[in-house]
Amino acid sequence: MKTTNTTATATQRERIRNIGIAAHIDAGKTTLTERILLAAGAIHHAGDVHEGNTTTDFDPLERAKGITISAAAIPCAWTPREETGISKLFAGQRHALNVIDTPGHVDFTAEVERSMRVLDGAIAVFSGVDGVQPQSETVWRQADRYGVPRLAFVNKMDRTGADFMRVVQQLRTQLGANAWPVLAPLGAEDNLRGQVDVISQRRYIFSRESQQSCTVEEGPSDDDGPAAELRSELVNRIAELDDVVAELWLNDQPVPDEVLRAAVRRQTLAGKFVPVIGGSAYRYVGIEPLLDAVVDFLPSPLDRGTTEAHNDEGESISVDNGVDAPLAALAFKLVHDSQAGRLVYVRVYRGVLERGMTVANPRTGQRERIGRMVRVVADRREELSRAEAGDICAVVGLRGFLTGDTLSDLDAVVSLEPPQFPQPVVSFA
Ligand code: GDP
Repeated sequence: MKTTNTTATATQRERIRNIGIAAHIDAGKTTLTERILLAAGAIHHAGDVHEGNTTTDFDPLERAKGITISAAAIPCAWTPREETGISKLFAGQRHALNVIDTPGHVDFTAEVERSMRVLDGAIAVFSGVDGVQPQSETVWRQADRYGVPRLAFVNKMDRTGADFMRVVQQLRTQLGANAWPVLAPLGAEDNLRGQVDVISQRRYIFSRESQQSCTVEEGPSDDDGPAAELRSELVNRIAELDDVVAELWLNDQPVPDEVLRAAVRRQTLAGKFVPVIGGSAYRYVGIEPLLDAVVDFLPSPLDRGTTEAHNDEGESISVDNGVDAPLAALAFKLVHDSQAGRLVYVRVYRGVLERGMTVANPRTGQRERIGRMVRVVADRREELSRAEAGDICAVVGLRGFLTGDTLSDLDAVVSLEPPQFPQPVVSFA
């Protein structure tokens, strides 16, 4: 088994994206998650939810589904490609993604609230046909409460009745989001051909034969609709929020792509802007550009700043995200793993969690030694010796910890959650 034992530099931590995928039932969360994991190399073949599977596809699909169900966080990697040039900010740089399981179809539960805390950014999925629905509103408000920056993915653009701009409008009117397209679909329904990058005006044309890649065409063509208008509208909206773009705009200067993209990033991270992307998970239209947008527009753990906590006197304090600081980590899910047994999924907010160290549980006042630590990758369990601020991993065993408990430094005891959370039941998968 491979053991990873390195200290992440600040640059490496900038290249982590802990993201969740949130959706109303039937919007396509499962399909989109599978497509993302496939594109990011975490699984090798995702089947089609619609069409059933051939014998050879069956096992990988089942495994993919198994992962989606049982893992609380799926690690994968994404390198925005130079050739597509969608991401001018981070092209060629490998990013570690953790796709965190966000309870889907929800009431206002502690588990959803907790998953909102553990992720740094989210993709909110909507159906291009059904648009914003009452339940999408609940999830949206929870993300608002926790200040989670997010992208909106308008899915099912291949379906009859899909209307991208109508859903964008609903995001504004029904959810009060400052939502504007950054990757707009080209065509709709049977004529869905790809996407136009509103910032660069490049077009990504998807081939039905080789579904996992797109060809890039420079500049809009006549039949692409209002790509140029979408760009000037985006510039206007961003100018209202962002001084750098405002300055150029007020002086009638052109706004270069990189400047606009960086401003969209800043305003999205600040929670003031929601980039909207249209595509089809099922048809594999827009998955790679979506991953580029995740890297471009959603925060790294370093962007997150501080996290609310309590000290051992019950006073509110802020926990920063430094590595050279006392440990503060949150146990956010318990899973019974067929190979490893009881796994406690942990997000490290501050400091370092290391194999062999002893941690305190402020809820029980007990101490416990950290034995094995693993990262569950597809059907492998990768052994870890340490995890640092921003990382997510699973600790094997850890009998005395339940979800919602903090793994704390012994001296600087902090509790990351207020004590009134109900203790949820262990989930078996
Ligand atoms: P979830 O309930 O949000 O997890 O949604 P699923 O991923 O299970 O999708 C619900 C249904 O919509 C399934 O029948 C999918 O095949 C279908 N679906 C998902 N994405 C798309 C899409 O992009 N286009 C079309 N036409 N169907 C889709």
